[in-house]
Formats: sequence, structure tokens, C-alpha cells
Amino acid sequence: MPFSKLGLSEHLQKALLALSYAKPYPIQEAAIPVILTGKDVLGIAKTGSGKTASFALPMLERFMDSKTTSNRHVRGLILVPTRELAQQVEEVFKKLSDSLPKRIKTLAVFGGASINPQMINLQGTDILVATPGRLLDLIASKAVYLSEVEMLVLDEADKMLNLGFKEEMQKILQLLPAKRQNILFSATLSADIKNIKDIILHDPEVVEI
Ligand code: AMP
Repeated sequence: MPFSKLGLSEHLQKALLALSYAKPYPIQEAAIPVILTGKDVLGIAKTGSGKTASFALPMLERFMDSKTTSNRHVRGLILVPTRELAQQVEEVFKKLSDSLPKRIKTLAVFGGASINPQMINLQGTDILVATPGRLLDLIASKAVYLSEVEMLVLDEADKMLNLGFKEEMQKILQLLPAKRQNILFSATLSADIKNIKDIILHDPEVVEI
């Protein structure tokens, strides 16, 4: 099935040229149409499956609408376990949004790097990719607000739990508005992930590849 059959607008289909993806991977074929409907999604998919584009494309599609971010209030939040993943995800979003008619700004923030440039860069950010600890530091510094988040992605949620981020994740969840779309990606469906799924996702569609 071509990307054009997944419900993405012409703009997003053109943006795909920047990534040179000829046709969707199975996870993208399964997840993109469901995420576009606004439903919560549990995706069971490993690194390398193409999961990044499966949430990046529908998120950008949604944020192409006219609303813009108010100062330091992000609309999309992607929580990731590591700096490397944060940078990879940011790269995919940046490549995809480069050619869009509406400017959508994505920023990655993570620990192990100086916080000041991240604070400055947060200005005007629509989509934030963050490791949990650094995000909480930035919230404490009033550099970013989560009260207008419309879409939450927990990427590699099993790894986030394995790295001991459960408490940080819970603190972050409390700062989000109740009305939002939630997407949870995990390589495995462990008891811990089932627990998180029950807390976070509302009537989710399960996509397993
Ligand atoms: P991900 O699981 O999102 O990290 O993607 C794994 C790798 O597959 C990355 O190098 C992507 O650039 C690549 N990739 C993802 N989707 C596609 C696609 N539809 N066609 C070709 N390559 C892809």
C-alpha cells in the first residue's frame, strides 16, 4: 500500500520525500490511519520497525491546523528514554517539517548537555522530544509548560521503565491536561507496560507488528 492511501495530506506526502521512504513499513501502514482518527494507540514495535514516522506523520498532520503554540506551551510531547533516541526522533520531525507551509518547530531536550541553550530554544517550540529527568528540570525552571499538550507519545516505554523513569513519568503525567491523545510504543508487553497502558490509554487500539 502506498503512503497516499493512509489518509495523509499532500503536504505530508511531499514531506516524505525528504526521508526517501518509498512505501510505508507495516507498523506505519497499521498505525498511521488509526492515530489520524485521534484514538489512543498501543504500538508493540521494536527499534528499527519504523515506529518514529508512524507517530511523527500523524502528529505533524494534526499540527498543520491554524492554531499556533502559545509561548513556551508545547502541543506535542514525546517522552523517550535516552539522549540518542531524542536526537533521532528530533531529526525525523525536522526533516519532515522542513517543507511544510506552516512552520512547526520540534526541539529535543535531554540530560548530559547544558540546560541553558535548551531553555532558550524552547521559545516557540510546538513539539518537544524529551528525556523525563531533563523535562522535569525545565518545568521547574518555568522554561516549558505542559498544560496545552494535545498529543503524548511514550516512545520505548519499556526501556523508560527499565531505566528507572517510572516516578518521573508519573510526575509528568500529572501536569498534562486530561483531554489529549495518547500513544504508547513498547517493544514488549510486560506486566509493567500493561499497568501503564491501563492508567494512560483510553479505549486504545492495539497495533502489533
Ligand atoms: P525507526 O524504527 O523509526 O527508528 O526506523 C528505523 C529505520 O528505518 C530508520 O533508519 C528509518 O529511516 C528507516 N525507515 C523508517 N520507515 C521507512 C520507510 N517507510 N521506508 C524506508 N525506510 C524507513
